[in-house]
Amino acid sequence: MLNIVLFGPPGAGKGTQSEKLIARYQLVHLSTGDIFRANIKGETELGKLAKSFIDKGELVPDSVTISMLESEVNKFENPKGFIFDGFPRTSAQAQALDQFLSSKNAEITCMLALEVEEEELRVRLYNRAKTSGRPDDADPEVIQNRIDVYNRETAPVADFYRGQGKYKGIDGIGSIDEISNRLFEAIEAIVA
Ligand code: ADP
Repeated sequence: MLNIVLFGPPGAGKGTQSEKLIARYQLVHLSTGDIFRANIKGETELGKLAKSFIDKGELVPDSVTISMLESEVNKFENPKGFIFDGFPRTSAQAQALDQFLSSKNAEITCMLALEVEEEELRVRLYNRAKTSGRPDDADPEVIQNRIDVYNRETAPVADFYRGQGKYKGIDGIGSIDEISNRLFEAIEAIVA
């Protein structure tokens, strides 16, 4: 299996690049943000709970997020692999994912981390707000909180994979195709 954690701050381009990766490697794309938004739209209990955190730019609690992610993974019978987009976002989620995968005799192949500086992120999220319809993109205070939460709780997840020798930083500045090509090269160097 090819199991990729696609990592990076809000606005780094994880969603866009996930599409390129699934097309090339036939992977299952699991975006926790997308799953939460689908639940919000469907007005499920999970959606109502998630919305109260997402609208403030806070993380949805680990217990909820981890069990949701595990049940999504379990829906697939013989996948070629997964792209985890927006997960794990805390050290507890990273540990839970490792344990869960090892119970299935699987593991994370690598973390590919899109590197984009903060000023550029603010510009991208501000522009995305015009078309995304996402309330969490529209409010500068919420954007700032998402960036702060990222720096405080999510950035340390990179060290978890660094410790396992699985971390690969990718320059996230450039055209969509330039960045995809960097990701493809990194993956092909790892699986070669
Ligand atoms: P972005 O990367 O642009 O911030 P996402 O779509 O990945 O957006 O996530 C949107 C929101 O959903 C996050 O700000 C957070 O509130 C919630 N969320 C997504 N994934 C997780 C996660 N793994 N753990 C907790 N909350 C999450």
